Amino acid sequence: MTVVKTIEECRAERAKLGKLALVPTMGALHRGHLSLVEYARQSAPYTAVSIFVNPTQFGPREDFTKYPRPIESDLEKCREMGVHLVFNPSPEEMYPAQLSPIVIDLPQLTEVLEGKHRPGHFKGVCQVVAKLFNILSPQIACFGQKDFQQLRVLTAMVEALDWPIEVVGCETIREPDGLAMSSRNQYLSLDERERALAISRALMLANGEVKEGERRANRVIASMQNVILDVGQLGRIPVSIDYIAAVDPITLKHVDMITGPTVLAIAARVGKTRLIDNIVVTPA
Ligand code: AMP
Repeated sequence: MTVVKTIEECRAERAKLGKLALVPTMGALHRGHLSLVEYARQSAPYTAVSIFVNPTQFGPREDFTKYPRPIESDLEKCREMGVHLVFNPSPEEMYPAQLSPIVIDLPQLTEVLEGKHRPGHFKGVCQVVAKLFNILSPQIACFGQKDFQQLRVLTAMVEALDWPIEVVGCETIREPDGLAMSSRNQYLSLDERERALAISRALMLANGEVKEGERRANRVIASMQNVILDVGQLGRIPVSIDYIAAVDPITLKHVDMITGPTVLAIAARVGKTRLIDNIVVTPA
C-alpha cells in the first residue's frame, strides 16, 4: 500500500494503476467505511482511499478541530483491506492560500435538509470531491447511503459535469442495536448513546407503519417525532430534533403521500453531538 500526502505524488502513483475505485473519507474509519472499501475492491482491480478532514465542509461552530484523526490505525485498516493507494493530504496541500476557492452549487438539492441546517456544507463537499476526482481520476467512487443527501448531490454533480465516473451508493452499516455507524458516535457517553438509539428506532417504527399501509407522511413523521421527543424527556441529556422529513429520493422535495420509494431522514442532537440517519421506505 502506498501512502501519499501531496497531489503531485498522488498523481504519479495513480498513473501506475489501472481501473480505480475511490472511497473518499474523513478518516476515523469504522465498519461503515470498510464496507465501502470492500465494495470498491470488488468493483475494480485497484482501490484508493482518501483520508482528509475537509475544513471547507464544516461550519464555524462545528467540530472541525475536535474531529478524530487516528491516522495510524486508519492506515492499518486500509492495509488489512488490501487498499493500493491512500491519499492523506494536509489542508494547505488541498487549499493553498493563493488559490481562489471554486464553488460548485446545485441549489435545488443543497438548500434543503442538511443544507438548511449546515449552510455551505455541500459547497465544501462538492469542492473537495471534485478536487479528489481530478487528482485521482477514479472510474468508480463509493459513498454511503447514510449520507443520502451527499450521495444524491454528488451523483448530480457528476451527471451535470459529464464526469466519466460511476457513483455508487452503499448501504448503511449499523451496530447490532441499530445505531448507524458514524465517526461522531465516539463523542457519545454511554447514556447519550442509549438515547441516540431513538433515531434508528424511530426510523424502524416508521418503516413498519408504511409497510402496514400508512401513506400520510405527516402521520409517519409525527410517530418518529414522538419516539425522539419521548426519549428527550427522560433523564438529563437534551435530545433535540433538527429535522424529520419524508422526501423524494431524486428531487429531495417533501412528499405528502408515500406512494413510491421515499427517504425518511432524521437529524438530531444528542447532548452536543449531531447525528443523522435515514432509510428508504417503499409502500407494500
Ligand atoms: P465520512 O468519513 O463521514 O466523510 O464518510 C465517508 C464515507 O463513508 C461517506 O460516503 C459516508 O456516507 C460513508 N459512511 C459513513 N458512515 C457509514 C455507515 N454507517 N455505513 C455506510 N457508509 C457510511
